[in-house]
Amino acid sequence: MPLISESLDWLLPHKCDICGDVANVTADDIPGYKDLYERLYHEQPGLNICKRCLSQLLPLEGVRGWSLCLSNPYDGDPYPELALFAPFPYDDLCERAMPAIKFRRKKEIARLFGVILGKKIKENGICCDLVAPIPLSKERLEERGFNQALEFAIPVAYATGSPLAEGLLERTLNTGRQTECKDNESRFLNVKGAFRMSDEWDIAGSTVVLVDDVATTGATLHEAAGALLDNGAGKVLCIAFASNRTVKNAETV
Ligand SMILES: [Zn+2]
Repeated sequence: MPLISESLDWLLPHKCDICGDVANVTADDIPGYKDLYERLYHEQPGLNICKRCLSQLLPLEGVRGWSLCLSNPYDGDPYPELALFAPFPYDDLCERAMPAIKFRRKKEIARLFGVILGKKIKENGICCDLVAPIPLSKERLEERGFNQALEFAIPVAYATGSPLAEGLLERTLNTGRQTECKDNESRFLNVKGAFRMSDEWDIAGSTVVLVDDVATTGATLHEAAGALLDNGAGKVLCIAFASNRTVKNAETV
């Protein structure tokens, strides 16, 4: 009886895309969100999140969002100084939100987090010549319907005032999911040679900001940054919304 169940869905309150409780935050509750959202995505926000989840988004203070790209640096790394800026800890909230984005296709959460990430980029005065998302393979993009890294890169580009180079990198291998790789070495091998830079761009000497949703070992961002540096990029800064470098905001270093 699809008609009846659809009517009931309409009557019931919306559920938080992260925890499933009643979504009691509207776009108007977040200062400036609605205007910025409409400017970035040319549509109205359809935010479904609860106050408790929103209040759990606690950024890392000061320099704690900065680290080396690789969680386990190794001798002989051709890019040992590659840096990562990830202003949020990969904590319980992210552990629930990121699968909701990727596997339940909750694009609105990616956009909310992207806008929040953009704000952090601005606060940290990050400048660059180009902003590029980590691409998905064609197969994964078809399966998911959108590239979550692009949703994060759009507000980052806006915050830096730099062009978004959506097709700068291509994913030439449909690699297995990084989350399914058990150890650091298999994560490295999984993404080895996975990225190619498009011939349509000349990035000689440019500073490129590379954006992904989450950094764990940093292997994906490291491999993608390598493809840009090998093609003449002057500097690459890796950015993720969250990383596991520091797990709890409250813990002391
Ligand atoms: Zn919630």
